[in-house]
Amino acid sequence: MNSKHIETEAIRTQIERTEFLEHSNPLYLTSSFIFEDAEDMRASFAEEKKRNIYSRFTNPNTSEFVSKICKMEGAEDGHAFATGMSAVFSTFAALLNSGDHIVSSRSIFGSTHSLFTKYLPKWNIETSYFKVDEIDQIESLIQPNTKVIYAESPTNPAVDILDLEILGNIAKKHGLIFIVDNCFATPYLQQPIRFGADLVIHSATKLIDGQGRVLGGVTVGRSDLIREIYLFSRNTGPALSPFNAWILSKSLETLIVRVERHCENALKVAQFLEEQPEVNWVKYPFLPSHPQYETAKKQMKLGGNIVSFEIKGGVEAGREFLNNIRLCSLSANLGDTRSIVTHPASTTHSKLSIEDRLETSITDGLIRVSVGLENVNDIIQDIKQALYAKIEIKI
Ligand SMILES: *Cc1c(COP(=O)(O)O)cnc(C)c1O
Repeated sequence: MNSKHIETEAIRTQIERTEFLEHSNPLYLTSSFIFEDAEDMRASFAEEKKRNIYSRFTNPNTSEFVSKICKMEGAEDGHAFATGMSAVFSTFAALLNSGDHIVSSRSIFGSTHSLFTKYLPKWNIETSYFKVDEIDQIESLIQPNTKVIYAESPTNPAVDILDLEILGNIAKKHGLIFIVDNCFATPYLQQPIRFGADLVIHSATKLIDGQGRVLGGVTVGRSDLIREIYLFSRNTGPALSPFNAWILSKSLETLIVRVERHCENALKVAQFLEEQPEVNWVKYPFLPSHPQYETAKKQMKLGGNIVSFEIKGGVEAGREFLNNIRLCSLSANLGDTRSIVTHPASTTHSKLSIEDRLETSITDGLIRVSVGLENVNDIIQDIKQALYAKIEIKI
């Protein structure tokens, strides 16, 4: 399907040029499009021709963004959304019926977990969970009404790896729709469709934008499923704005060089952390010490930009580490040019019980680093001084 290399597709996929023969793609800030005559309008609404009607349905900028992601992921078709969460919600809302059942990894994005536990049950859709080390038990969770297997890999914030090929085979054997949130890996590092995924979701807010500017989301995959997702979005309105699509499409042109440097920096940060006596353990998919290192090597090109580690001293040490950070940002985002550190146990995951946190490998001293594009020595220096600030004060 892919005639050109992924780097080229990310740059050269473009909508038709206008009469001005612009080199860089223009921004189409228009809510609607006009028709030549009554027949043109009738044929357009009857979908006898593929064209733009109204920007809640499609827009040239969103179409360009979606076609780039499709080419990079090896997908038949796709649809773009205002946020990653609207992509997740719309995908489930479009495909599931009352009474359906989901089998999901327990280590999923917080808001996706809320969708499964708080909102989908309102429509009588229930979810059963497996832990990252319980892949061999998934088949026992499948019920006659199971429709979807859902997973993220690498996981947030513990950076565990799930074997997508095993999940894809189980889904195929039982005729289930296999959906992967590929946000942490990006379409460059991992293409879940190669391992049997039917649909791939991204929060484009993260590494795809990569510069902390806009929110966006996208679902790509099997065209019959995308058709349903498109119709849901067209009727309910979570469309990506043309401006954000234009930004995101531009961002894809540099995604690969950015992600390569992100990964190079992250590996160095992980290797540094592994040597530190103040650190209990470090998890990074491309460190040989990672429990699923072989799987990571099989399904990912590089290890991604997220490193997690456990600082000695639990919650207090985690909070103190954050207070001593000087260069990196304390922020909820990730995948930005700027390095970001978070302490999930006292922030994003503080509302979970200790048992629930441990189920997703979030220990009290876990620190998540989203490694950015600053000079890696400056990032390491900042982490180092924050790790040892407490000790130096004592001395
Ligand atoms: C951020 C994120 C989302 C949600 O994306 P938004 O653009 O913030 O709505 C979904 N999944 C993962 C893995 C994420 O990191």
